[in-house]
Amino acid sequence: MQVRNDWTRDEIQALYEQPFLDLVFKAQSVHREHFDANTIQVSTLLSIKTGKCPEDCKYCSQSARYDSKLEAEKRIAVDKVIQEAKEALASGSSRFCMGAAWRNPHERDMPYVLEMVSEVKALGLETCMTLGMLNQSQAERLKDAGLDYYNHNLDTSREYYSHIISTRTFDDRLDTLDHVRQAGMKVCSGGIVGLGETREDRIGLLLELATLPIHPESVPINMLVPIEGTPLADVEKLDVIEWIRTIAVARIIMPHSYIRLSAGRESLTDSDQALAFMAGANSLFSGEKLLTTPNAGEGKDKQLFNKLGLVAEKAKATAAQLSVDAMAV
Ligand code: SF4
Repeated sequence: MQVRNDWTRDEIQALYEQPFLDLVFKAQSVHREHFDANTIQVSTLLSIKTGKCPEDCKYCSQSARYDSKLEAEKRIAVDKVIQEAKEALASGSSRFCMGAAWRNPHERDMPYVLEMVSEVKALGLETCMTLGMLNQSQAERLKDAGLDYYNHNLDTSREYYSHIISTRTFDDRLDTLDHVRQAGMKVCSGGIVGLGETREDRIGLLLELATLPIHPESVPINMLVPIEGTPLADVEKLDVIEWIRTIAVARIIMPHSYIRLSAGRESLTDSDQALAFMAGANSLFSGEKLLTTPNAGEGKDKQLFNKLGLVAEKAKATAAQLSVDAMAV
């Protein structure tokens, strides 16, 4: 299937509104043209600085503006990050993502993150960071240090954005994505469903992603995990089928991208997740926690992979090599 960056809202809407089984069948057919259907890319996400974020994202436990009872943590030591990265590699992850609750990194933080990137990269893992907004110079220095991916989600549609975040604009997000691309890094960008948005907004989010000059290589489709103390704590839960539809449409319109199951997976049954893989999802986060929200644990994932006959995509360094190195930490 040819990659297109000129999708229209009407085309995306027509895909969404197909009978569910037709949509999933089409998504799986597109998926098989571009990927091994039984291989899943596995990433591990580590919070390197938790909480006290000045931004006001209404879904987030890390915003300093809400009383979510989250315990804030200062920057964690680089050695500790490297140890976690080795363990992630030994347990089958191919990408290690490091996240900090910042509006943007300050210049004083740059030596810290640059050192971390080059050391994680040297292990043979793909590296990813999510640090908030970046300027061009920061993006270039991260690329030079060995950063493969930068995560910066669009979150929701342009129209609904200001209902969720007021401390930055949708265009600020696009500017950072542009700096990341200009620096030559790969983009990880997706959104969250279940924020109280309409289907129109979900279509709007996918339209923005699929009409970027280059599709994000990685597209997380999160399902809101409502957190007590945040303004979205009591938002009505989105039906799982609608989330699967969003995944299937993302797979069809961005056929070369890894579509990732992220936050919200922990509350899903094995059958829901199997259906999401059927709809073209082929990437997930492993580990007990996603920054601060609970996640399906590694053991549970192994069981699910065994049940479904799925295998994890290999990292450059082998897990066996790393388990020896990990013992030396
Ligand atoms: S989502 Fe990110 S930017 Fe928004 S409040 Fe949470 S940590 Fe801050």
